[in-house]
Amino acid sequence: MSESTSTPSPGTGPRIREALSRLPAYVPGKPASAPPGITAYKLSSNENPYPPLPSVLAVVQEAAGQINRYPDMAVGELTATLADALGVPAECLATGTGSVGVLGQVIQACCDPGDEVIYAWRSFEAYPIVTTLAGAVPVQVPLDAEHRHRLDAMADAITDRTRVILVCTPNNPTGTVVHDDELRAFLARVPSDVLVVIDEAYLEFVQDAAAPDALAIWREHPNVMVLRTFSKAYGLAGLRVGYAVAHPDVAVALRKTAVPFGVNSLAQVAAVASLGAVDELQERVDALVKERGRVVDGLRDQGWDLSETEANFVWFDLAEQSGEFAAACEAAGLMVRQYGSDGVRVTIGEPEANDRLVQVCARWRAEH
Ligand SMILES: *Cc1c(COP(=O)(O)O)cnc(C)c1O
Repeated sequence: MSESTSTPSPGTGPRIREALSRLPAYVPGKPASAPPGITAYKLSSNENPYPPLPSVLAVVQEAAGQINRYPDMAVGELTATLADALGVPAECLATGTGSVGVLGQVIQACCDPGDEVIYAWRSFEAYPIVTTLAGAVPVQVPLDAEHRHRLDAMADAITDRTRVILVCTPNNPTGTVVHDDELRAFLARVPSDVLVVIDEAYLEFVQDAAAPDALAIWREHPNVMVLRTFSKAYGLAGLRVGYAVAHPDVAVALRKTAVPFGVNSLAQVAAVASLGAVDELQERVDALVKERGRVVDGLRDQGWDLSETEANFVWFDLAEQSGEFAAACEAAGLMVRQYGSDGVRVTIGEPEANDRLVQVCARWRAEH
């Protein structure tokens, strides 16, 4: 007996794939915490600051009574509702556990070990993780001086190992969009067997008339798919549901690589209810876009040189000063997202939080 309960000798554990040692860690946004006496705001995860709509909360509460049952594996009602709302055939839709979940399905569906995935950098930090996890090779193409995608350089980076190209518009964390004409010129250079994913997590916040009509582009290009989420504008980040609009062969592959029953029952009913409340949700998005304008104008008045943001966040290109700036925000009760010595991303939040950001920035300008 004593033998079987003894500690195993080192070096005999299960072998873990080598690729995992190359994975960058996903850094979650810091939770709100503040010095005593001041309200803290979480501006570190691009979340919607509004609480769930009462109508959405009601269906979630009702559905909670049946969580002893598995969810609808086909995600039927949500798929049908989305197909109707978007004007696309249901066979062109695939769902997943957030759009990050769908992205993992994309890479698994398209990449064998050693295949290449091209994306801009900096961009969404999940890209290197899902790529590396699948044994694929990340090919990162630096953004330009205005923090925009260099689509020409991305096209130049295509090799015969390229399987997927990720285009994040608006780009997280810089907020810039690609333009419709640029994207079309880029697509003309991409071989038809390479899948181009247009990640539109922040689509609802976009006002730039030159931004792409991704669904129109998808209709015209058999190798394009569009990735969307209920996490940001729809305010359902905690429920984990996103989707792809893809051509049928790709959509079939995404369903094959999905975690079975991955989209849970509460997420399914909440997403359906949200699609039924788009006008109410749009009012909130409009208010956030207005707040974004107020913050950006305030900061430009202070002399900040900001890149254009079309999302629900602002990018501070502070290089080596990033840590100091993030610490100044946190001392004022604002949790922000620092990206090493690249910059700091701050989510547009409640008006009081935005006011405080403008104040912290004014003080920073005065002191630097
Ligand atoms: C937040 C975000 C997503 C959405 O993630 P979910 O998994 O749907 O919550 C996708 N892409 C980008 C670029 C994001 O910033």
